[in-house]
Amino acid sequence: MGAKRTFVDLDAAGPRHEYRAILAKIKKDAVCPFCPQNFKYHTRPILHETRHWLSTENFAPYIGTKHQFLLLHKKHIEHLTEMSPAAWGELLKHAQWLCKKYDLPAGSIFMRFGDVKYTNASVAHLHAQLLIGTKRAKKTFPIAPPLGFSTKPYIPKK
Ligand SMILES: [Zn+2]
Repeated sequence: MGAKRTFVDLDAAGPRHEYRAILAKIKKDAVCPFCPQNFKYHTRPILHETRHWLSTENFAPYIGTKHQFLLLHKKHIEHLTEMSPAAWGELLKHAQWLCKKYDLPAGSIFMRFGDVKYTNASVAHLHAQLLIGTKRAKKTFPIAPPLGFSTKPYIPKK
């Protein structure tokens, strides 16, 4: 009662300082930024919308991505167990639409769900991300989105 719910995790912004400032404002407003009625924080255009999902560009992409799309489950849910099989199937079609539209030769898709303290997601509202960087060459580095936490450090091999 009266306790403000927090829908965002500022620590997940990492070195993205402008993004952290936006998250701080959202936290202060105590709203979920991915719910359609609060979508004012998001400044990128909606690219595709279907019954369960909408896709847009991530406005705080990881360094080095060529494309980083955000796929939002339109209804506020947070855990995978709340998603319907129909929505799951529609997510595939939605991702395929992006692949065709942007002529993606490859990509990665990931979705975190549940308690953000386990996943390092910045927003609890269920969403997926589809991204692509550049083709591997001599001076390229892996794009490594944080997908949770470990008690052991992860050091990529060179
Ligand atoms: Zn929401």
